[in-house]
Formats: sequence, structure tokens, C-alpha cells
Amino acid sequence: MNPVGSEIFAGHFRSRRVMVTGGGSGIGFGIAQAFAEAGASVLLVDRNPLVSDSAAQLREAGYDAEHAVADVTDEAQVKAAFARVVDLWGGLDVLVNNAGIITISNLEDLSLEEFNKVLAVNTTAVFLCCREAAGLLRASGKGVILNASSGQGRQGFIYTPHYAASKFGVIGLSQSLAKELAPSGVRVNSYCPGIVKTEMWEYNDREWGRRLGDYKPGELIQEWIDGIPLKRPAEATDVANLLLFLASDAGSYITGQAINIDGGMFMN
Ligand code: NAD
Repeated sequence: MNPVGSEIFAGHFRSRRVMVTGGGSGIGFGIAQAFAEAGASVLLVDRNPLVSDSAAQLREAGYDAEHAVADVTDEAQVKAAFARVVDLWGGLDVLVNNAGIITISNLEDLSLEEFNKVLAVNTTAVFLCCREAAGLLRASGKGVILNASSGQGRQGFIYTPHYAASKFGVIGLSQSLAKELAPSGVRVNSYCPGIVKTEMWEYNDREWGRRLGDYKPGELIQEWIDGIPLKRPAEATDVANLLLFLASDAGSYITGQAINIDGGMFMN
């Protein structure tokens, strides 16, 4: 069992207000749960209406959790989600831009629409949410932005030029904002997961496996896991542990960084 950051940081985030995009499922739900367990009030934002069930699950466990259904690529819906933050809490301390999508395609079959769609969710939406959050985070005095990049923000993989471009973009965007917002005490970092077994990976295993050889379901991901120095995929908890640290007072001298959370897959 992994050490659970929410136990180490128990109570640390009490009275802090945390928004997690893509918080309805996968890594985002794990992040929201970890912040809630560490005492925060959390708002789960997701385009999937099932996010209401995810927030209800946290409330049933005794945590302070709300939800907003919003597509983070839609400027009006992003503004509405931040209006809900103001209605709920009157401010914000931590923004986690976790929402992301991937598609796998060889170059000639990759349409402009598909390229732009991946950039819209993974990069442009991060800009939209950061822009709406900036004033609230400045007012917080402990404002933190955490942006989901990827191992593919470090090194492009085959058949995902759009995804790699989007995740490299997140790192540059985060560095630029870290410099602009530092004088007002807002820290901005990005994080780079390697392999986290979520719905995203079921798709990756199938589609990469089909293109890279005659892989049966689960074989390709296992081959990649075998190449990880720590020999296991990440749990959402592993990613959440890093984010708790970065958002905590213990991380108060860290800004503008992109941090790998991948069992040693990338060492840069
Ligand atoms: P996932 O597909 O399991 O979950 C993504 C969540 O984001 C879903 O709840 C989905 O509804 C939501 N979402 C997608 N588009 C949205 C939009 N436009 N507006 C609002 N919500 C939206 O994905 P995951 O594996 O949990 O990945 C989370 C983040 O971590 C992504 O940014 C992803 O690129 C990144 N990441 C994942 C892995 C991995 O191995 N799973 C590795 C590196 C980086």
C-alpha cells in the first residue's frame, strides 16, 4: 500500500478551497478525494454529468464536496464554474487543471479537428481556467495552480503528436504564469504522470497496441510497465500525494517546475 499523502497532510488543507477539473473520474477524482481527506473543501468540475455522483460519494464519506458540470474548453462554461466557486466559497486557494484527453493516430489520418480538440482540452482550457482563477488566487495569499502535463510533456511518443504538443505546451504555459504570478504569491507548477491505470489507458493499450504490433489486450501496457524502474504503474494516489505536497506550505518555495511522477520512467 502506498503511503497516503492525505494522512501525512491530515487537516493541513482545512479551510482551503480546491477546484479540480476532470474531477469526476480517473486521476482527477483521486486528487479531489485526497484534498478532501486532507481537510479541503473541493469542487469537482467535469463535462460528464456523472460528476454529481462522484461529489455525492465524497459527501457520503463525510467530506465537503460539490460539483459543477462544465466543459472546460467552453469559455462561458468555465466562467459559470468560477461563478459557482465565488457563490460557494467567495474565493479559491488551489486550482488543479487535470482534465485531459488523448487520441492515437498516425500522421496522415490525424485531422485538424482532432488535433485542435486535443489542444483545446489539454492546453487552451488550462489557460482559460488559470485566467479565471488568477484574481481569486491572488486574493488567497496561498494561491496554487497545478497543471497536468505528462511524460509526453517530456518526450513525444509515436502516434500522439497532438497530445505531446499539448503537454509540452502545458509546461511552457505554467512556467510563464509562474513568473507572472510569483510577485502576488501565487505558485504555478505542472506534473508529469507516466502510466496511471485509468480509462485513458484502456484506450491507449488498445490503440497503440493495434498500431505497434500484434498485441493482445493488456500486453503493451505490461511491456511498458516492465520498463519502469519501480516496476508498477501509478495509482491516482501517487499523483495526488505529489499534488498535496506541492500545494501545501511545505512546497512554498517551489514554483515554475514540471515534476515527473512516473516511477522513474523519465529522469529529467
Ligand atoms: P480519464 O480519461 O480517466 O479522466 C479524465 C476526466 O476528465 C474525465 O472525468 C472526463 O470526463 C474529464 N474531461 C475530459 N475532457 C473534459 C472537458 N473538456 N471538460 C471537463 N472535463 C473533461 O483521464 P486520466 O487518466 O484520469 O487523466 C487525467 C489527466 O492526467 C489528463 O490531463 C491526462 O492527460 C493526464 N495524464 C494521464 C496519464 C495516464 O496514464 N492515465 C498519464 C499522463 C498524464
